[in-house]
Amino acid sequence: MKAMPTATVPEVRRHFIGGRWFEETGKTRPLRNPATGMVHGRLALGGEAEVEAAVRAARAALEGPWGRMTLAARCDLLDKVADQLLERLEDLVAAEVGDTGKPAHEARSWELPRAAANFRAFAALARSRADEVFRMRSADGLEVMNTVLRAPIGVVGLIVPWNLPLLLLTFKAAPALAMGNVIIAKPSEETPTTACLLAEIMAEAGLPDGVFNVVHGLGAGGAGEALVRHPEVRAIAFTGESATGRSIMATASHGLKALSFELGGKNAAIVLEDADLEAAVAGTARSAFLNTGQVCLCTERVYVARPLYETFVARLAEEASRWVPGDPWQLGTRLGPVISEGQRERIRRYAALAAESGTVRAGGVVPVMSEGLEGGWWFAPTVWTDLGEDHPCVREEVFGPVCHVAPFDTEEDALKMANASPYGLAGVVWTRDLERAMRVSRRLEAGLTWVNSWYLRDLRTPFGGVKASGIGREGGVWSLDFFSETRTICVPWDES
Ligand code: NAD
Repeated sequence: MKAMPTATVPEVRRHFIGGRWFEETGKTRPLRNPATGMVHGRLALGGEAEVEAAVRAARAALEGPWGRMTLAARCDLLDKVADQLLERLEDLVAAEVGDTGKPAHEARSWELPRAAANFRAFAALARSRADEVFRMRSADGLEVMNTVLRAPIGVVGLIVPWNLPLLLLTFKAAPALAMGNVIIAKPSEETPTTACLLAEIMAEAGLPDGVFNVVHGLGAGGAGEALVRHPEVRAIAFTGESATGRSIMATASHGLKALSFELGGKNAAIVLEDADLEAAVAGTARSAFLNTGQVCLCTERVYVARPLYETFVARLAEEASRWVPGDPWQLGTRLGPVISEGQRERIRRYAALAAESGTVRAGGVVPVMSEGLEGGWWFAPTVWTDLGEDHPCVREEVFGPVCHVAPFDTEEDALKMANASPYGLAGVVWTRDLERAMRVSRRLEAGLTWVNSWYLRDLRTPFGGVKASGIGREGGVWSLDFFSETRTICVPWDES
Protein backbone atom coordinates (compact mmCIF):
# COMPACT_ATOMS: atom_id res chain seq x y z
CA MET A 1 0.00 0.00 0.00
CA LYS A 2 1.26 3.43 -0.94
CA ALA A 3 1.52 5.81 2.01
CA MET A 4 -0.07 9.23 1.93
CA PRO A 5 2.53 11.93 1.15
CA THR A 6 3.28 13.53 4.51
CA ALA A 7 4.86 16.55 2.87
CA THR A 8 1.43 17.94 2.04
CA VAL A 9 -0.69 16.50 4.83
CA PRO A 10 0.32 17.03 8.46
CA GLU A 11 -0.23 14.33 11.10
CA VAL A 12 -3.07 16.32 12.71
CA ARG A 13 -5.79 17.63 10.38
CA ARG A 14 -6.31 21.07 11.89
CA HIS A 15 -9.02 23.67 11.58
CA PHE A 16 -8.38 26.40 9.02
CA ILE A 17 -9.69 29.70 10.33
CA GLY A 18 -9.04 33.22 9.05
CA GLY A 19 -6.35 32.00 6.65
CA ARG A 20 -4.36 30.14 9.34
CA TRP A 21 -4.07 26.65 10.73
CA PHE A 22 -5.68 26.77 14.14
CA GLU A 23 -3.72 25.30 17.05
CA GLU A 24 -5.87 22.49 18.36
CA THR A 25 -6.98 22.73 21.96
CA GLY A 26 -5.95 19.18 22.72
CA LYS A 27 -8.89 17.05 21.72
CA THR A 28 -8.15 14.84 18.72
CA ARG A 29 -9.23 11.44 17.45
CA PRO A 30 -7.45 8.90 15.29
CA LEU A 31 -8.11 8.65 11.57
CA ARG A 32 -8.02 5.15 10.14
CA ASN A 33 -7.42 4.05 6.59
CA PRO A 34 -10.48 1.88 5.77
CA ALA A 35 -8.45 -0.34 3.41
CA THR A 36 -6.05 -1.43 6.18
CA GLY A 37 -7.66 -0.35 9.44
CA MET A 38 -4.38 1.40 10.30
CA VAL A 39 -4.21 4.82 11.95
CA HIS A 40 -2.91 7.37 9.42
CA GLY A 41 -3.33 10.63 11.28
CA ARG A 42 -5.41 12.46 13.84
CA LEU A 43 -8.34 14.81 13.58
CA ALA A 44 -8.67 17.98 15.66
CA LEU A 45 -12.10 17.98 17.28
CA GLY A 46 -13.64 21.43 17.20
CA GLY A 47 -16.74 22.75 18.88
CA GLU A 48 -18.34 26.05 19.85
CA ALA A 49 -15.06 27.92 20.36
CA GLU A 50 -13.71 27.04 16.92
CA VAL A 51 -17.05 27.82 15.24
CA GLU A 52 -17.12 31.19 17.05
CA ALA A 53 -13.57 31.98 15.83
CA ALA A 54 -14.52 30.95 12.28
CA VAL A 55 -17.65 33.14 12.33
CA ARG A 56 -15.57 36.13 13.46
CA ALA A 57 -13.01 35.53 10.70
CA ALA A 58 -15.75 35.06 8.11
CA ARG A 59 -17.55 38.25 9.12
CA ALA A 60 -14.31 40.21 8.93
CA ALA A 61 -13.75 38.92 5.37
CA LEU A 62 -17.28 39.88 4.40
CA GLU A 63 -16.79 43.39 5.74
CA GLY A 64 -13.33 43.56 4.14
CA PRO A 65 -11.97 42.97 0.64
CA TRP A 66 -14.21 40.01 -0.21
CA GLY A 67 -17.38 42.02 0.39
CA ARG A 68 -16.14 44.70 -2.03
CA MET A 69 -14.96 42.31 -4.76
CA THR A 70 -16.92 42.28 -8.02
CA LEU A 71 -18.65 39.10 -9.16
CA ALA A 72 -16.27 38.93 -12.14
CA ALA A 73 -13.21 39.08 -9.86
CA ARG A 74 -14.65 36.40 -7.58
CA CYS A 75 -15.30 34.14 -10.53
CA ASP A 76 -11.74 34.64 -11.82
CA LEU A 77 -10.52 33.43 -8.43
CA LEU A 78 -12.76 30.37 -8.69
CA ASP A 79 -11.19 29.53 -12.06
CA LYS A 80 -7.76 29.77 -10.41
CA VAL A 81 -8.91 27.37 -7.68
CA ALA A 82 -10.01 24.96 -10.43
CA ASP A 83 -6.57 25.20 -12.09
CA GLN A 84 -4.77 24.52 -8.82
CA LEU A 85 -7.04 21.61 -7.94
CA LEU A 86 -5.95 19.97 -11.18
CA GLU A 87 -2.30 20.87 -10.59
CA ARG A 88 -2.45 19.18 -7.20
CA LEU A 89 -4.57 16.27 -8.38
CA GLU A 90 -2.10 13.62 -7.18
CA ASP A 91 -1.98 15.10 -3.65
CA LEU A 92 -5.76 15.12 -3.58
CA VAL A 93 -5.95 11.54 -4.86
CA ALA A 94 -3.51 10.39 -2.14
CA ALA A 95 -5.51 12.21 0.53
CA GLU A 96 -8.89 10.89 -0.62
CA VAL A 97 -7.60 7.33 -1.03
CA GLY A 98 -6.01 7.51 2.43
CA ASP A 99 -9.26 8.63 4.04
CA THR A 100 -11.67 6.38 2.13
CA GLY A 101 -9.68 3.44 0.71
CA LYS A 102 -11.41 3.93 -2.66
CA PRO A 103 -9.63 2.85 -5.86
CA ALA A 104 -7.12 5.57 -6.77
CA HIS A 105 -8.00 5.45 -10.47
CA GLU A 106 -11.67 6.20 -9.67
CA ALA A 107 -10.65 9.22 -7.59
CA ARG A 108 -8.23 10.34 -10.30
CA SER A 109 -10.33 9.73 -13.37
CA TRP A 110 -13.66 11.32 -12.42
CA GLU A 111 -14.26 12.13 -8.77
CA LEU A 112 -11.55 14.68 -8.10
CA PRO A 113 -11.56 16.30 -11.56
CA ARG A 114 -15.25 16.92 -10.81
CA ALA A 115 -14.15 19.16 -7.91
CA ALA A 116 -12.37 21.40 -10.42
CA ALA A 117 -15.35 21.19 -12.78
CA ASN A 118 -17.61 22.43 -9.97
CA PHE A 119 -15.57 25.63 -9.66
CA ARG A 120 -15.47 26.23 -13.40
CA ALA A 121 -19.15 25.47 -13.95
CA PHE A 122 -20.46 27.73 -11.19
CA ALA A 123 -18.05 30.54 -12.09
CA ALA A 124 -19.28 30.42 -15.71
CA LEU A 125 -22.91 30.27 -14.65
CA ALA A 126 -22.63 33.15 -12.19
CA ARG A 127 -20.81 35.33 -14.74
CA SER A 128 -23.39 34.82 -17.43
CA ARG A 129 -26.53 35.11 -15.34
CA ALA A 130 -28.44 38.33 -15.82
CA ASP A 131 -30.49 40.07 -13.14
CA GLU A 132 -34.17 40.23 -14.03
CA VAL A 133 -36.09 43.43 -14.63
CA PHE A 134 -39.92 43.59 -14.54
CA ARG A 135 -41.62 46.65 -15.98
CA MET A 136 -45.24 47.68 -15.47
CA ARG A 137 -47.50 50.72 -15.59
CA SER A 138 -49.22 51.58 -12.31
CA ALA A 139 -52.92 52.46 -11.97
CA ASP A 140 -52.01 56.16 -11.74
CA GLY A 141 -49.97 56.06 -14.95
CA LEU A 142 -46.45 55.80 -13.58
CA GLU A 143 -43.79 53.70 -15.31
CA VAL A 144 -42.47 51.19 -12.80
CA MET A 145 -39.27 49.21 -13.02
CA ASN A 146 -38.60 46.35 -10.60
CA THR A 147 -34.98 45.19 -10.56
CA VAL A 148 -34.34 41.83 -8.96
CA LEU A 149 -30.88 41.54 -7.42
CA ARG A 150 -29.10 38.61 -5.81
CA ALA A 151 -27.05 39.53 -2.76
CA PRO A 152 -24.87 37.27 -0.61
CA ILE A 153 -26.52 35.71 2.44
CA GLY A 154 -23.41 36.19 4.58
CA VAL A 155 -21.91 33.37 6.64
CA VAL A 156 -23.04 29.97 5.35
CA GLY A 157 -22.33 26.55 6.85
CA LEU A 158 -21.56 23.58 4.59
CA ILE A 159 -21.89 20.15 6.24
CA VAL A 160 -20.86 17.20 4.10
CA PRO A 161 -20.52 13.40 4.38
CA TRP A 162 -17.68 10.97 3.76
CA ASN A 163 -18.67 9.17 0.57
CA LEU A 164 -17.47 11.71 -2.04
CA PRO A 165 -15.80 14.18 0.30
CA LEU A 166 -14.23 16.78 -1.97
CA LEU A 167 -16.75 16.43 -4.80
CA LEU A 168 -19.66 17.15 -2.44
CA LEU A 169 -17.91 19.95 -0.56
CA THR A 170 -16.95 21.78 -3.76
CA PHE A 171 -20.45 21.33 -5.21
CA LYS A 172 -21.58 23.66 -2.38
CA ALA A 173 -18.48 25.81 -1.88
CA ALA A 174 -18.19 26.93 -5.53
CA PRO A 175 -21.69 28.43 -5.90
CA ALA A 176 -21.57 29.86 -2.35
CA LEU A 177 -18.37 31.74 -3.19
CA ALA A 178 -19.56 32.77 -6.65
CA MET A 179 -22.50 34.49 -4.96
CA GLY A 180 -20.18 36.31 -2.55
CA ASN A 181 -20.77 34.41 0.68
CA VAL A 182 -18.21 33.46 3.31
CA ILE A 183 -17.99 29.82 4.28
CA ILE A 184 -17.53 27.60 7.29
CA ALA A 185 -17.13 24.03 6.07
CA LYS A 186 -17.60 21.03 8.34
CA PRO A 187 -16.26 17.94 6.56
CA SER A 188 -17.09 14.46 7.79
CA GLU A 189 -15.05 13.34 10.78
CA GLU A 190 -14.10 10.26 8.71
CA THR A 191 -12.70 12.15 5.70
CA PRO A 192 -11.27 15.56 6.64
CA THR A 193 -8.07 15.61 4.58
CA THR A 194 -9.11 16.93 1.16
CA ALA A 195 -10.94 19.81 2.88
CA CYS A 196 -7.59 20.82 4.43
CA LEU A 197 -5.93 20.70 1.01
CA LEU A 198 -8.78 22.70 -0.49
CA ALA A 199 -8.27 25.39 2.18
CA GLU A 200 -4.59 25.54 1.25
CA ILE A 201 -5.43 25.75 -2.46
CA MET A 202 -7.98 28.53 -1.87
CA ALA A 203 -5.36 30.55 0.01
CA GLU A 204 -2.76 29.96 -2.73
CA ALA A 205 -5.27 31.03 -5.37
CA GLY A 206 -5.63 34.35 -3.55
CA LEU A 207 -8.95 34.11 -1.72
CA PRO A 208 -8.79 36.62 1.14
CA ASP A 209 -8.33 35.25 4.67
CA GLY A 210 -11.56 34.23 6.35
CA VAL A 211 -13.53 33.59 3.15
CA PHE A 212 -13.17 29.81 3.38
CA ASN A 213 -12.84 28.30 6.85
CA VAL A 214 -12.79 24.65 7.88
CA VAL A 215 -13.85 23.46 11.32
CA HIS A 216 -13.39 19.76 11.95
CA GLY A 217 -15.19 17.58 14.41
CA LEU A 218 -18.19 15.47 15.15
CA GLY A 219 -21.77 16.19 14.14
CA ALA A 220 -24.20 15.88 17.06
CA GLY A 221 -22.71 17.56 20.15
CA GLY A 222 -19.65 18.69 18.14
CA ALA A 223 -18.60 21.15 15.46
CA GLY A 224 -21.57 20.28 13.20
CA GLU A 225 -24.19 21.07 15.80
CA ALA A 226 -22.32 24.21 16.96
CA LEU A 227 -22.31 25.46 13.36
CA VAL A 228 -26.05 24.89 12.94
CA ARG A 229 -26.72 26.57 16.30
CA HIS A 230 -24.63 29.71 15.72
CA PRO A 231 -26.96 32.70 15.28
CA GLU A 232 -24.72 34.40 12.71
CA VAL A 233 -24.63 31.41 10.37
CA ARG A 234 -27.56 32.32 8.15
CA ALA A 235 -27.85 29.22 5.96
CA ILE A 236 -26.91 25.56 6.14
CA ALA A 237 -26.37 23.40 3.07
CA PHE A 238 -26.26 19.82 4.28
CA THR A 239 -25.63 16.50 2.57
CA GLY A 240 -26.02 13.35 4.63
CA GLU A 241 -28.52 11.01 6.20
CA SER A 242 -32.21 11.87 6.38
CA ALA A 243 -32.19 11.34 10.18
CA THR A 244 -29.37 13.89 10.51
CA GLY A 245 -31.38 16.27 8.34
CA ARG A 246 -34.27 16.04 10.80
CA SER A 247 -32.03 16.87 13.73
CA ILE A 248 -30.37 19.77 11.86
CA MET A 249 -33.78 21.16 10.94
CA ALA A 250 -34.87 21.08 14.59
CA THR A 251 -31.72 22.92 15.72
CA ALA A 252 -31.83 25.41 12.84
CA SER A 253 -35.48 26.25 13.49
CA HIS A 254 -34.47 28.43 16.47
CA GLY A 255 -32.49 30.71 14.18
CA LEU A 256 -34.91 30.42 11.19
CA LYS A 257 -32.03 29.54 8.88
CA ALA A 258 -32.27 28.78 5.19
CA LEU A 259 -31.74 25.06 4.63
CA SER A 260 -30.80 22.97 1.63
CA PHE A 261 -30.90 19.23 2.24
CA GLU A 262 -29.47 16.45 0.06
CA LEU A 263 -30.42 13.34 2.02
CA GLY A 264 -30.56 9.56 1.79
CA GLY A 265 -32.08 7.29 -0.83
CA LYS A 266 -33.32 3.78 -1.51
CA ASN A 267 -33.13 4.10 -5.23
CA ALA A 268 -35.00 1.82 -7.61
CA ALA A 269 -34.15 0.66 -11.12
CA ILE A 270 -36.90 -0.68 -13.40
CA VAL A 271 -35.84 -3.08 -16.16
CA LEU A 272 -38.67 -3.34 -18.70
CA GLU A 273 -39.01 -6.45 -20.88
CA ASP A 274 -37.72 -4.71 -24.02
CA ALA A 275 -34.50 -3.54 -22.29
CA ASP A 276 -31.05 -4.28 -23.69
CA LEU A 277 -30.31 -6.98 -21.12
CA GLU A 278 -26.52 -6.78 -21.22
CA ALA A 279 -26.51 -2.99 -20.93
CA ALA A 280 -29.03 -3.19 -18.06
CA VAL A 281 -26.92 -5.77 -16.20
CA ALA A 282 -23.64 -3.89 -16.55
CA GLY A 283 -25.33 -0.56 -15.78
CA THR A 284 -27.12 -1.93 -12.74
CA ALA A 285 -23.91 -3.48 -11.38
CA ARG A 286 -22.16 -0.14 -11.76
CA SER A 287 -25.04 1.73 -10.13
CA ALA A 288 -25.06 -0.71 -7.20
CA PHE A 289 -21.32 -1.20 -6.62
CA LEU A 290 -19.56 2.02 -7.66
CA ASN A 291 -17.76 3.53 -4.67
CA THR A 292 -18.69 0.32 -2.79
CA GLY A 293 -22.36 1.28 -3.07
CA GLN A 294 -21.66 4.45 -1.09
CA VAL A 295 -23.13 7.00 -3.47
CA CYS A 296 -26.49 8.50 -2.50
CA LEU A 297 -27.61 7.75 -6.09
CA CYS A 298 -26.76 4.04 -5.92
CA THR A 299 -29.42 1.51 -6.88
CA GLU A 300 -30.41 -0.75 -3.98
CA ARG A 301 -33.71 -2.06 -5.44
CA VAL A 302 -34.03 -3.55 -8.91
CA TYR A 303 -37.42 -4.47 -10.42
CA VAL A 304 -37.14 -6.68 -13.48
CA ALA A 305 -39.88 -7.74 -15.96
CA ARG A 306 -40.65 -11.40 -15.24
CA PRO A 307 -39.59 -12.77 -18.68
CA LEU A 308 -36.08 -11.36 -18.09
CA TYR A 309 -35.90 -11.95 -14.35
CA GLU A 310 -33.98 -15.26 -14.02
CA THR A 311 -31.44 -14.41 -16.72
CA PHE A 312 -30.99 -10.92 -15.28
CA VAL A 313 -30.33 -12.22 -11.76
CA ALA A 314 -27.86 -14.87 -12.98
CA ARG A 315 -26.00 -12.31 -15.11
CA LEU A 316 -25.96 -9.68 -12.34
CA ALA A 317 -24.53 -12.22 -9.87
CA GLU A 318 -21.84 -13.07 -12.43
CA GLU A 319 -21.14 -9.38 -13.00
CA ALA A 320 -20.85 -8.81 -9.23
CA SER A 321 -17.91 -11.22 -9.10
CA ARG A 322 -16.04 -8.91 -11.51
CA TRP A 323 -16.09 -6.10 -8.93
CA VAL A 324 -12.93 -7.34 -7.29
CA PRO A 325 -11.97 -5.71 -3.99
CA GLY A 326 -8.29 -5.01 -3.48
CA ASP A 327 -5.40 -2.61 -3.06
CA PRO A 328 -6.76 0.83 -4.01
CA TRP A 329 -3.46 1.67 -5.72
CA GLN A 330 -3.66 -1.26 -8.11
CA LEU A 331 -5.13 -0.45 -11.52
CA GLY A 332 -7.42 -3.50 -11.70
CA THR A 333 -9.15 -2.81 -8.37
CA ARG A 334 -12.78 -1.85 -8.84
CA LEU A 335 -14.06 -2.10 -5.27
CA GLY A 336 -12.78 -0.31 -2.19
CA PRO A 337 -13.65 -1.00 1.43
CA VAL A 338 -16.62 0.34 3.37
CA ILE A 339 -15.84 3.61 5.17
CA SER A 340 -15.68 2.40 8.79
CA GLU A 341 -15.95 -0.56 11.08
CA GLY A 342 -19.34 0.68 12.31
CA GLN A 343 -20.67 0.95 8.79
CA ARG A 344 -19.36 -2.53 7.90
CA GLU A 345 -21.09 -3.95 11.00
CA ARG A 346 -24.34 -2.33 9.90
CA ILE A 347 -24.06 -3.95 6.47
CA ARG A 348 -23.28 -7.32 8.04
CA ARG A 349 -26.43 -7.08 10.15
CA TYR A 350 -28.51 -6.40 7.04
CA ALA A 351 -26.76 -9.29 5.25
CA ALA A 352 -27.60 -11.67 8.10
CA LEU A 353 -31.28 -10.62 7.96
CA ALA A 354 -31.35 -11.12 4.18
CA ALA A 355 -29.75 -14.56 4.44
CA GLU A 356 -32.43 -15.61 6.96
CA SER A 357 -35.43 -14.58 4.86
CA GLY A 358 -34.29 -14.55 1.24
CA THR A 359 -31.70 -15.89 -1.22
CA VAL A 360 -28.13 -14.65 -1.49
CA ARG A 361 -27.21 -14.76 -5.21
CA ALA A 362 -23.78 -13.14 -4.81
CA GLY A 363 -21.56 -11.97 -1.96
CA GLY A 364 -23.20 -11.41 1.40
CA VAL A 365 -19.88 -12.00 3.14
CA VAL A 366 -16.63 -10.35 4.17
CA PRO A 367 -14.14 -11.35 1.44
CA VAL A 368 -10.75 -12.86 2.22
CA MET A 369 -8.21 -10.13 1.57
CA SER A 370 -4.53 -10.29 0.74
CA GLU A 371 -1.75 -9.41 3.16
CA GLY A 372 -1.87 -5.86 4.45
CA LEU A 373 -5.58 -5.50 3.71
CA GLU A 374 -6.99 -8.05 6.21
CA GLY A 375 -7.49 -5.31 8.81
CA GLY A 376 -9.65 -3.20 6.46
CA TRP A 377 -13.46 -2.99 6.34
CA TRP A 378 -14.25 -4.99 3.23
CA PHE A 379 -17.58 -6.37 2.08
CA ALA A 380 -18.23 -8.39 -1.08
CA PRO A 381 -20.59 -7.09 -3.80
CA THR A 382 -23.94 -8.61 -2.91
CA VAL A 383 -27.13 -9.53 -4.78
CA TRP A 384 -30.23 -10.65 -2.88
CA THR A 385 -33.56 -11.99 -4.16
CA ASP A 386 -36.82 -13.33 -2.65
CA LEU A 387 -37.18 -10.74 0.10
CA GLY A 388 -40.62 -9.25 0.75
CA GLU A 389 -41.15 -5.59 -0.11
CA ASP A 390 -41.42 -4.75 3.60
CA HIS A 391 -38.12 -6.43 4.53
CA PRO A 392 -35.62 -3.97 6.12
CA CYS A 393 -33.12 -4.72 3.33
CA VAL A 394 -35.71 -3.56 0.78
CA ARG A 395 -37.09 -0.60 2.75
CA GLU A 396 -34.07 0.91 4.50
CA GLU A 397 -30.99 2.56 3.02
CA VAL A 398 -28.05 0.14 3.55
CA PHE A 399 -25.40 2.34 1.85
CA GLY A 400 -23.10 -0.53 0.91
CA PRO A 401 -22.39 -2.72 -2.16
CA VAL A 402 -25.75 -4.47 -2.03
CA CYS A 403 -28.97 -4.67 -4.03
CA HIS A 404 -32.19 -6.66 -4.04
CA VAL A 405 -33.80 -7.86 -7.29
CA ALA A 406 -37.53 -8.61 -7.58
CA PRO A 407 -39.70 -9.55 -10.59
CA PHE A 408 -42.80 -7.65 -11.78
CA ASP A 409 -45.65 -8.47 -14.15
CA THR A 410 -46.96 -5.08 -15.21
CA GLU A 411 -45.51 -1.58 -15.52
CA GLU A 412 -48.11 -0.54 -12.95
CA ASP A 413 -46.80 -3.09 -10.42
CA ALA A 414 -43.21 -2.00 -11.00
CA LEU A 415 -44.09 1.65 -10.37
CA LYS A 416 -46.13 0.78 -7.30
CA MET A 417 -43.21 -1.10 -5.71
CA ALA A 418 -40.62 1.47 -6.76
CA ASN A 419 -42.69 4.34 -5.33
CA ALA A 420 -43.57 2.55 -2.07
CA SER A 421 -40.53 4.06 -0.36
CA PRO A 422 -40.16 6.94 2.06
CA TYR A 423 -37.26 8.09 -0.13
CA GLY A 424 -37.23 9.56 -3.65
CA LEU A 425 -33.75 10.56 -4.73
CA ALA A 426 -32.89 8.78 -7.98
CA GLY A 427 -34.25 6.16 -10.36
CA VAL A 428 -33.22 4.30 -13.49
CA VAL A 429 -35.45 3.00 -16.30
CA TRP A 430 -34.07 0.42 -18.75
CA THR A 431 -36.06 0.13 -22.02
CA ARG A 432 -35.57 0.54 -25.79
CA ASP A 433 -38.90 2.36 -26.10
CA LEU A 434 -38.43 6.08 -25.54
CA GLU A 435 -42.15 6.82 -25.12
CA ARG A 436 -42.38 4.18 -22.45
CA ALA A 437 -39.22 5.52 -20.85
CA MET A 438 -40.82 8.96 -20.56
CA ARG A 439 -44.11 7.55 -19.27
CA VAL A 440 -42.46 5.48 -16.54
CA SER A 441 -39.90 8.16 -15.62
CA ARG A 442 -42.61 10.77 -15.15
CA ARG A 443 -44.44 8.52 -12.72
CA LEU A 444 -41.35 7.48 -10.79
CA GLU A 445 -41.22 9.50 -7.56
CA ALA A 446 -37.61 10.64 -7.79
CA GLY A 447 -35.74 13.92 -8.09
CA LEU A 448 -33.51 12.44 -10.82
CA THR A 449 -34.27 9.64 -13.25
CA TRP A 450 -31.82 8.19 -15.74
CA VAL A 451 -32.92 6.29 -18.83
CA ASN A 452 -30.53 3.50 -19.95
CA SER A 453 -27.74 5.19 -18.00
CA TRP A 454 -26.77 6.28 -14.51
CA TYR A 455 -24.96 9.16 -12.80
CA LEU A 456 -24.58 11.20 -15.98
CA ARG A 457 -24.47 14.73 -14.62
CA ASP A 458 -24.79 18.05 -16.41
CA LEU A 459 -23.87 20.56 -13.71
CA ARG A 460 -26.45 23.03 -15.03
CA THR A 461 -29.32 20.72 -14.08
CA PRO A 462 -31.07 20.60 -10.68
CA PHE A 463 -29.97 17.97 -8.20
CA GLY A 464 -32.00 16.76 -5.23
CA GLY A 465 -34.63 14.38 -4.01
CA VAL A 466 -38.33 14.23 -3.21
CA LYS A 467 -39.92 12.88 0.01
CA ALA A 468 -37.33 12.00 2.67
CA SER A 469 -34.48 12.42 0.16
CA GLY A 470 -34.18 16.15 0.38
CA ILE A 471 -35.46 19.67 0.52
CA GLY A 472 -34.68 22.16 -2.22
CA ARG A 473 -32.45 21.70 -5.24
CA GLU A 474 -28.79 22.40 -5.84
CA GLY A 475 -26.96 22.40 -9.17
CA GLY A 476 -27.08 25.12 -11.84
CA VAL A 477 -29.01 28.29 -11.04
CA TRP A 478 -30.74 26.43 -8.19
CA SER A 479 -27.47 26.55 -6.24
CA LEU A 480 -26.98 30.22 -7.09
CA ASP A 481 -30.48 30.95 -5.83
CA PHE A 482 -30.03 29.02 -2.60
CA PHE A 483 -26.76 30.78 -1.85
CA SER A 484 -28.18 34.28 -2.31
CA GLU A 485 -30.85 36.59 -0.99
CA THR A 486 -33.14 37.71 -3.77
CA ARG A 487 -34.05 41.37 -3.37
CA THR A 488 -36.33 43.63 -5.38
CA ILE A 489 -35.81 47.35 -5.92
CA CYS A 490 -38.89 49.12 -7.23
CA VAL A 491 -38.44 52.46 -9.05
CA PRO A 492 -41.52 54.32 -10.35
CA TRP A 493 -41.26 57.43 -12.54
CA ASP A 494 -43.57 59.77 -14.32
CA GLU A 495 -42.94 59.77 -18.07
CA SER A 496 -45.29 62.67 -18.66
P1 NAD B 1 -24.32 11.76 8.28
O1 NAD B 1 -25.66 12.39 8.21
O2 NAD B 1 -24.04 10.82 9.40
O3 NAD B 1 -23.18 12.87 8.38
C1 NAD B 1 -23.03 13.88 7.42
C2 NAD B 1 -22.36 15.10 8.04
O4 NAD B 1 -23.23 15.65 9.03
C3 NAD B 1 -21.05 14.79 8.77
O5 NAD B 1 -20.15 15.85 8.53
C4 NAD B 1 -21.47 14.74 10.22
O6 NAD B 1 -20.44 15.04 11.13
C5 NAD B 1 -22.55 15.81 10.26
N1 NAD B 1 -23.54 15.68 11.33
C6 NAD B 1 -24.00 14.53 11.89
N2 NAD B 1 -24.93 14.83 12.84
C7 NAD B 1 -25.04 16.17 12.88
C8 NAD B 1 -25.82 17.07 13.65
N3 NAD B 1 -26.69 16.64 14.56
N4 NAD B 1 -25.69 18.40 13.44
C9 NAD B 1 -24.82 18.86 12.50
N5 NAD B 1 -24.04 18.05 11.75
C10 NAD B 1 -24.15 16.73 11.92
O7 NAD B 1 -24.08 11.08 6.88
P2 NAD B 1 -22.86 10.16 6.43
O8 NAD B 1 -22.97 8.85 7.13
O9 NAD B 1 -21.60 10.95 6.54
O10 NAD B 1 -23.16 9.97 4.87
C11 NAD B 1 -23.99 8.99 4.33
C12 NAD B 1 -25.38 9.51 4.09
O11 NAD B 1 -25.33 10.65 3.24
C13 NAD B 1 -26.29 8.51 3.38
O12 NAD B 1 -27.56 8.56 3.95
C14 NAD B 1 -26.35 9.06 1.95
O13 NAD B 1 -27.47 8.67 1.21
C15 NAD B 1 -26.31 10.52 2.20
N6 NAD B 1 -25.86 11.24 1.01
C16 NAD B 1 -26.77 11.98 0.30
C17 NAD B 1 -26.37 12.65 -0.85
C18 NAD B 1 -27.36 13.46 -1.67
O14 NAD B 1 -26.91 14.26 -2.48
N7 NAD B 1 -28.66 13.29 -1.50
C19 NAD B 1 -25.04 12.58 -1.28
C20 NAD B 1 -24.15 11.81 -0.54
C21 NAD B 1 -24.57 11.15 0.62
